Amino acid sequence: MNKLNEKWLLLSCCAPCSVGVIQTWAQSGKNFAVVFFNPNIRPLSEYEKRRDENKRICDLYHVPFIELEYDTCTWDATTKGLLNEPERGKRCDRCFELRLKRVAQYAKENGYTGFSSVLGISRYKDMEQVNRAAQKASQCYDLPYDFTNWRKNGGEQLRAALTKELNLYNQRYCGCKPK
Ligand code: SF4
Repeated sequence: MNKLNEKWLLLSCCAPCSVGVIQTWAQSGKNFAVVFFNPNIRPLSEYEKRRDENKRICDLYHVPFIELEYDTCTWDATTKGLLNEPERGKRCDRCFELRLKRVAQYAKENGYTGFSSVLGISRYKDMEQVNRAAQKASQCYDLPYDFTNWRKNGGEQLRAALTKELNLYNQRYCGCKPK
């Protein structure tokens, strides 16, 4: 496909994880929007804080920001019985798949030519686990996924530097709060 006709959708979970990717893509002239679909984040006040911070950096780089539904019922049903799983376990498999499939669906329905995410950028995450879920979402909606490893090539340093420079809100947990 001609690059001029490309239109990408980037799933973001929080500002610190996405800021380096947003800056890199924006400065390269890539045509993209950021989507916030994170019904895993609890409580609501935390969700709102991360959403607003994410929107702030999108505004800074003149990137469209899309918020999808805060569908906690579906997230709860999808992860039912798995609340005692450790991070990187089966609950995360379901969480990643739910979010990436919904974003792929939205992308397909709204004329995007591909999608990606920053869900694996944190060193606390298992990148392969995120990529497996992304692969399923990509196949399910027949839409390309960009598997760039944003931790590499200075990505982690850029993330840290911009988080400090822009004084971004940086939470201390992933999103859900298992009992
Ligand atoms: S730890 Fe994070 S990725 Fe795993 S289930 Fe909870 S919110 Fe989702």
